[in-house]
Amino acid sequence: MNEAKVACPSCGGSFLVEQFIVDVPHFGEVLITRGECGDCGFKTSDLLPLSEARYPRKQKLVIESSVLSARVIRSPFCRIEIPEIGLSVEPVQGEAFITNVEGLLLRLLDKLKGFEAQGMNVREQIRRIEETLAGKNRLTLIFEDPRGLSLIGGAVDE
Ligand SMILES: [Zn+2]
Repeated sequence: MNEAKVACPSCGGSFLVEQFIVDVPHFGEVLITRGECGDCGFKTSDLLPLSEARYPRKQKLVIESSVLSARVIRSPFCRIEIPEIGLSVEPVQGEAFITNVEGLLLRLLDKLKGFEAQGMNVREQIRRIEETLAGKNRLTLIFEDPRGLSLIGGAVDE
């Protein structure tokens, strides 16, 4: 593990950065960079997959209640799309997560509610996702990852 103290990006205080590699099942080696400020509590977390491509570059899954618990791995290179509601999320450097389909939808909901709070009209998108979580609707989830490091469990190749 590597450690370093740098200036906190938020308050300029004492920010401790740790870096380590973990072997994540189904995902291979991942470099994790984590930081926390001892003064203001500001935290960051970055995840960079180090392994070679192992999954299809494009995957698609129809979301219904039976697949809500399917594993989802999203690498920082993955574009997420839900065509029925015109939703697409571009890859974000350093942003990766392992969750399940339900967890992914909850994350998207969170983001949309943030946009709504800023005055964007995303009510229909929120409604469709909430219905899908409740098993009353279906949406299609598409992952596009040129590095082949993302996975929708149970998805079929395109
Ligand atoms: Zn700070």
